[in-house]
Amino acid sequence: MSITTDLQHIKNAIPTEVTLVAVSKTKPTESILEAYHAGQKVFGENKAQELAQKAKLLPNDIEWHMIGHLQSNKVKYIAPFVSLIHAVDSEKLLKEINKRAAQNNRVIDCLLQFHIAQESNKFGLNKEEAQKILVKQSQYPNIRIIGLMGMATFTSDKAQIRSEFSLLKSIFDNIQKEYTEIKTLSMGMSGDYTIAIEEGSNMIRVGSAIFGTRQ
Ligand SMILES: *Cc1c(COP(=O)(O)O)cnc(C)c1O
Repeated sequence: MSITTDLQHIKNAIPTEVTLVAVSKTKPTESILEAYHAGQKVFGENKAQELAQKAKLLPNDIEWHMIGHLQSNKVKYIAPFVSLIHAVDSEKLLKEINKRAAQNNRVIDCLLQFHIAQESNKFGLNKEEAQKILVKQSQYPNIRIIGLMGMATFTSDKAQIRSEFSLLKSIFDNIQKEYTEIKTLSMGMSGDYTIAIEEGSNMIRVGSAIFGTRQ
């Protein structure tokens, strides 16, 4: 199988209203270009410097998403051009993104990352912490919080994965009642994107199913 056929296969299998983020972390620019020439324009990386380096070498019309945990001191590398930051998990980080966005005369779209998995090593907010950030967002005029993101537990137990995605969807629906600009729900990776879409995801982050396994 090639990148092009795997990509086509996934695109054909998902509804058109679901955005596919091709996760190219650790993969060379040649692989990204192959996906790009097959029509993929949205790519995700989880390291700020790697993202910035690749963006410099690749076509300008690529939409770059920062999908991984982001340290405040790395925001500066991606602030000039990043189109969506998926994993905002603290007000401190939001503040720094706002500052760097302002320096670049930009408004940067962000998602709040929720902790829905059982693993304690995963990052993310709970409902109360997210609410605290949402009520204060007018203090951050160079940020637009447009949705939520979450990662399910790494397990073969499909029922558990489904219940975690379902929980995040219900939180999303609740928040959306109050904050109508919350429209994106980023959940689902190579192993669980089908379940995620069934549970209401409209943005999936898929790496290995497109680019092959990583070292
Ligand atoms: C690596 C990564 C993905 C993609 O994982 P695959 O299993 O390769 O599809 C999705 N989301 C985040 C946050 C990641 O770090």
